[in-house]
Amino acid sequence: MTDRVALITGASSGIGLELARLFARDGHDLVLVARRQDRLRALADELTDRYDVQLTVIAADLADPSAPAEIARRVAAAGLEVELLVNNAGYGLAGEFIRTDAATELRMIQVNIAALTHLSKLFLPRMVAEHQGRIMNVASTAGFVPGPLMAVYYATKAYVISFSLALAEELRQCGVTVTVLCPGATRTEFQERAGLDLEARAFRGPWVADAASVARAGYQGMLRGKRLVVPGVFNKIMVATARLASPALLAKAVRRVQESVR
Ligand code: NAP
Repeated sequence: MTDRVALITGASSGIGLELARLFARDGHDLVLVARRQDRLRALADELTDRYDVQLTVIAADLADPSAPAEIARRVAAAGLEVELLVNNAGYGLAGEFIRTDAATELRMIQVNIAALTHLSKLFLPRMVAEHQGRIMNVASTAGFVPGPLMAVYYATKAYVISFSLALAEELRQCGVTVTVLCPGATRTEFQERAGLDLEARAFRGPWVADAASVARAGYQGMLRGKRLVVPGVFNKIMVATARLASPALLAKAVRRVQESVR
């Protein structure tokens, strides 16, 4: 007998943590993945106190290329089957590409792109064989535009959008859905970790969302099998505009925004 679970990466804070609360509220057993085990355990305790759900915590560094296979091995060893996969873990780094730390950016590519791809590769075959399952990949509105002064991060999110939409189409008739969630600026630990200025005006307007509402939009979109979820009116307008504008013009506009948050 295997138990069906939702696996969420990056559940130790921000959007991933709020997603875990929503899944648990609806009775899903969960596997929580991130590096900070203490945070994951505290969340697991909170959720098992409030809801009738089983929680499994896996502390893993997704910058390690061997992490996805090890996670899949531990999931199987625990007799669990991943029916819902949320690839949410990710981070950014601000700065001119010529000055930013190469190792941090290469690890970012591993976390934001390679681990997400590898986990999908590992858990999809079972979903397809059973004609049920859902994947949610967390990208960003940043994935629709070139991102001077945060170039690698924006490019990783462009990959996530392209990959997710392509996979959704491949799986169209398999009973498995793929949703890509594209939040705009959201109050989490992301900005501080990326080296962005939290006091900047860009992070103080009504367009800045809270993690709970972003998680809700993604969760509902995933349940409905939506391919693309852009939460918030401001972000929807931004994405629609970006689709019409020239890439060179967009790069100039994004550069101005990025200059204002450093
Ligand atoms: P956050 O509060 O910093 O959460 C990031 C999560 O990713 C944490 O749980 C972190 O856990 C995990 N993570 C980071 N590096 C990891 C690694 N090497 N191995 C395993 N887990 C790792 O930021 P957030 O805003 O909720 O970010 C969630 C997703 O939303 C990210 O993909 C981000 O790019 C995307 N997003 C955020 C915004 C925003 O403005 N906040 C906007 C658009 C998109 P540990 O540190 O414990 O490992």
